[in-house]
Amino acid sequence: MTKPVFRFAPSPNGRLHLGHAYSALLNANFARRFGGRFLLRIEDIDITRCRPEFEAAIYDDLAWLGLVWEKPVRRQSEHFADYRAAFLRLKGRGVVYPCFCTRKDIAQTIACLEAEGGQDWPRDPDGAPLYPGTCRAILPDGAESRIAAGEPHAWRLDKAAVRRLLPGPHAFRRLDRDGREEAVTADPWRWGDAVIVRKEIPTSYHLSVVMDDALQGVTHVVRGQDLEAATDLHVLLQGLLELPTPLYHHHGLVLDPTGDKLAKSRQSRPLAELRVEGVTPQVIWQRLGFEPQPTPST
Ligand code: GLU
Repeated sequence: MTKPVFRFAPSPNGRLHLGHAYSALLNANFARRFGGRFLLRIEDIDITRCRPEFEAAIYDDLAWLGLVWEKPVRRQSEHFADYRAAFLRLKGRGVVYPCFCTRKDIAQTIACLEAEGGQDWPRDPDGAPLYPGTCRAILPDGAESRIAAGEPHAWRLDKAAVRRLLPGPHAFRRLDRDGREEAVTADPWRWGDAVIVRKEIPTSYHLSVVMDDALQGVTHVVRGQDLEAATDLHVLLQGLLELPTPLYHHHGLVLDPTGDKLAKSRQSRPLAELRVEGVTPQVIWQRLGFEPQPTPST
């Protein structure tokens, strides 16, 4: 039997905090428990927000925590060709269309639709309004000439076209904290015509994560509950790209003392800061509910 493969996949756009430490330790712990492999993946597709110093700090923080991961580390920014190939596959299946709308165009269309309909326009699980479908109506010839003229565009999944190909029901298997499996129904349609290739970069989080998990043979995706809803879309992409669907475990988030989710944007305390103050990795493990492990000898 092949070994289970786990991965921790941070984005180097800020310093790691306790929430990241929890996710990394949980993955490493599961890998140890299941006799599996533990990978680290750097999710740096957003080249404007990711910085080399944050990436270097990820390696320092994780090594300080006592984690050991396989080398070489996969850095998404070195694999745009893989995501392009996946996108071309989706294009070949006729399930994507180019979208030339700016954020402002979309906001204006939705404001009109809300005014006309007298009710709020539906939102996706992240709270963003579902795309109203404006560019779906553009004929292929027109779209091609706008692309040829260099007009900036994203690519969206055509929900209706996907539904014809893969009507569902869609499902995946979830792993609970004790390692038990259960079937879960996925509802990818609640994401509407999701962006699959962003305007400013040649991929998206959803497309890259699905491709990388498959290319790296990841069998168990262990990540925060904030990404649970995204799994529905990931399962759909796996279906469209004929990739295996891993098992999923979405862990609870580490909250700050006010009960809010820790977020880099809210300046929650970076691990490096705790380290400088003399907090030990053992204290972090205990605080996060893990049995302290002996520090690996180097
Ligand atoms: N790169 C994502 C983040 O830092 C995690 C992606 C994943 O685990 O699927 O939130």
